[in-house]
Amino acid sequence: MENRTYAADAEPGATVTVAGWVHEIRDLGGIAFLIVRDTTGRIQVKLEKDEMDDELVETGLDASRESVVRVDGAVEEEPRAPTGVEVVPTDIEVIAAAETQLPLDPSGKVGAELPTRLDNRTLDLRRDEAKAVFEIRAEVLRAVREAFRSFAATEINTPKIVATGTEGGTELFPITYFGEEAFMNQSPQLFKQLMVGSGLERVFEIGPIFRAEEHNTPRHLNEATSIDFESAFFDHTEAMDVCEAVVKAAYEAVDENCRAELEALGIADEFEVPSGEFPRLTYEEAIERINATGALDEQLVWGDDLPTEGEHALGEDVGEHYFITDWPSEIKPFYIKDHDGDETLSTGFDMMHPRMELVSGGQREHRHDRLIEGFEQQGLDPDAFEYYTKMFKYGMPPHAGWGLGGERLIMTMLDLDNIREAVLFPRDRQRLSP
Ligand code: ATP
Ligand code: MG
Repeated sequence: MENRTYAADAEPGATVTVAGWVHEIRDLGGIAFLIVRDTTGRIQVKLEKDEMDDELVETGLDASRESVVRVDGAVEEEPRAPTGVEVVPTDIEVIAAAETQLPLDPSGKVGAELPTRLDNRTLDLRRDEAKAVFEIRAEVLRAVREAFRSFAATEINTPKIVATGTEGGTELFPITYFGEEAFMNQSPQLFKQLMVGSGLERVFEIGPIFRAEEHNTPRHLNEATSIDFESAFFDHTEAMDVCEAVVKAAYEAVDENCRAELEALGIADEFEVPSGEFPRLTYEEAIERINATGALDEQLVWGDDLPTEGEHALGEDVGEHYFITDWPSEIKPFYIKDHDGDETLSTGFDMMHPRMELVSGGQREHRHDRLIEGFEQQGLDPDAFEYYTKMFKYGMPPHAGWGLGGERLIMTMLDLDNIREAVLFPRDRQRLSP
């Protein structure tokens, strides 16, 4: 639209064309106000019934809520208007009328349940609160990219249609690929590892992962966004350093550049950038601390996976982001390297928010023979992964990396109850459309 002025940019004295949605009509009798909303905010349009052209006033008054309108006019100062200015219109056009029955109320005055909101996401995202989540999400992705670039990592994109899964098994979505069975990739793990042996050496990827999680939970999606990092000549501690820096960079960027969005979400005052180093607890310390909280009926012993209630109890106890390191090898995937001199102890780590796991990572097994053994120990057929294992015979450096759940980062950062709030169109057990 030629010469369109955003609501937030309308200055007194200017002649403007504003365009957006009818947020509200306030009819006070002799005078009425049409509130027009665009992506930058709202602006008041004054309708004086006796003084202005009848047709103009009627067009304004008859416009249904959420219709798309264009208004030409002069901007005047008006201290009583929400933004301190108002438009005195010379022309109003209804570009796209909205039906009067709306599936949800974008003004937010009438609340809607999450399923209704997700069914009508377009309308839902006309609300400041819902929109703020995605403005922040965009800023997080920008900041994360910039942080990776500052670490000299190269952004890559790896295939999402694959012949074999990363960890085999149950979480794979099968598809038909020209008559053959294929799968949606559950992680870029193997591809990003192959890149550390290439001339690129240090890489990151932000892309979809697909997991056929059987159950609906507030923190699992069937299609999620994974933020992955992998570097040649890194050990697990160096990978953790980068992980911590990237997460802090995301918080800092939001703190600096998303004040209005944090206000819209009602968390501007309590929003905190994590300060200081994330504590690094060993798995052994973690289970001792969980046991000491008394949150579990049965005491955890070495080799147990951490149950969700255990994670919660520990998270409450620690009270900030933290790492869990030195896991038992048997509960970490085959591609994670063991500590030198102790095959039972893995270099795998998780990075936790007090509410949940955000990251899994570790140093990787780069020795061909040991890698093949790992496949066999985990009951996987190494031949199915030959495209991957083969490259470990041609000069694969030691390397380490991690994967961070993008939606979990946003969810915990903004204290959202449900991970679906952080995805435009979530995929879960019940939801395949829109
Ligand atoms: P969890 O045990 O919480 O289900 P995981 O250990 O199976 O997660 P990983 O394979 O370690 O997950 O994946 C790395 C990260 O990707 C996780 O820490 C998490 O942040 C994110 N992630 C994994 N699966 C999902 C999912 N189904 N939905 C959203 N995020 C996910
Ligand atoms: Mg994990």
